[in-house]
Amino acid sequence: MSCLFCKIISKEIPSKPVYEDDNILAFEDLNPQAPVHILIIPKKHISTSLDIKDEDNELIGQMFQAANKIAQDKGVAENGFRTVMNCNLDAGQTVFHIHLHLLAGRTMHWPPG
Ligand code: AMP
Ligand code: ZN
Repeated sequence: MSCLFCKIISKEIPSKPVYEDDNILAFEDLNPQAPVHILIIPKKHISTSLDIKDEDNELIGQMFQAANKIAQDKGVAENGFRTVMNCNLDAGQTVFHIHLHLLAGRTMHWPPG
């Protein structure tokens, strides 16, 4: 498996984890775009959000619940945070294993660039 995030899950590539359970791993983004920038990924390889199937619905909910927990643990939930999943090239997806960006710790701009 040549997927970068599958290698992070298998610990072949190191990361700075902030949350892990049976289905989910969350770790610090290597190139943070905000004071808090965490990536939340399923341990199951899913290439893009277009590949999410009915059987994955619970897993996707678990990703958002992990984001909520991390935001609360980091003390940014009340001020607010942004969750983003980029799909394909126009949106800027560079790693083809779905990941929820959790961004917080500064005021976010809208519309995003
Ligand atoms: P995206 O552009 O939405 O596909 O997001 C990919 C994200 O993965 C970017 O924010 C990168 O900074 C991040 N990234 C790439 N390689 C690593 C890595 N080895 N560890 C942590 N984050 C990474
Ligand atoms: Zn993968």
